[in-house]
Amino acid sequence: MAELDGKVIIITGGASGIGKQAALQLSAKGASLVIADYNLDGANAVAAELEAAGGKAAAFKVDVSKGEEVKALVDFAVEKFGTLNGIFNNAGIGLVKPFLEMDPESYHRVIDVDQHSVYYGMYYGAKKMVELGATGTIVNTASIYGTAAAMGSFNYNAAKAAVVMMSKSGALELAEYGIRVVGVAPGFINTPILGNDEAMKSALGAQHMRGQLIQPEKVASVVTFLFSDGASAINGQTIPVDDGFLSFKTK
Ligand code: NAD
Repeated sequence: MAELDGKVIIITGGASGIGKQAALQLSAKGASLVIADYNLDGANAVAAELEAAGGKAAAFKVDVSKGEEVKALVDFAVEKFGTLNGIFNNAGIGLVKPFLEMDPESYHRVIDVDQHSVYYGMYYGAKKMVELGATGTIVNTASIYGTAAAMGSFNYNAAKAAVVMMSKSGALELAEYGIRVVGVAPGFINTPILGNDEAMKSALGAQHMRGQLIQPEKVASVVTFLFSDGASAINGQTIPVDDGFLSFKTK
């Protein structure tokens, strides 16, 4: 029997990047997965790939910035697989602008998608788990930019710092129900969110100790561990997967 056999986990942003790699690794450990994403074609493709490899998966279209859609996602997971043991609140966007151009729309868009989404996933996910008497784990994707400020990232810095604290606060409140809450803080990961500017990407990679971008599989393997029993004593913390970024100063 695989380690996560019988466990039902929702992955938001599961169509691409870190979420897709987490889906591949969690499925290989036996978890039944709902691949939730705004990009339904991408989510369907990932679910089909998992099923072709013998896994159990279903796709669901969601805009994580809308609470009622996240609630519907949680209901769908339970209808489809009978229970809920975890949610990986991972979908996110960036929208880089100098602070003096950070108009309310740009600010709120990132707060809605990167911060409020995590609240919705935790709230509707945990309520459903408690209602079902199910235990499990919530993993939230933060960022190194939840700790370190970056130029043009006022909105993203604020959202990801909130995710770090929501993981602590949620862990404190949900421990008595057998629900752990943890976070991951990726460094610069080689996914579509970084765009296509190769010079910019290599400059970002140069800020890691090993001088290159991190592959999304490396974040996914930490996420997979956090969902496992081996991580049962990790609670409330956000684990950096940053190749040392937060540990040293480049210039
Ligand atoms: P990605 O662009 O490959 O994947 C993000 C996924 O989220 C996409 O499939 C996209 O369709 C989905 N998404 C975006 N907005 C959505 C919405 N409103 N509703 C539903 N789905 C939505 O990028 P990634 O790097 O895999 O990003 C995953 C997470 O990792 C994000 O929260 C991001 O902020 C975080 N992160 C990434 C990096 C990096 O360098 N790549 C660094 C730190 C943190």
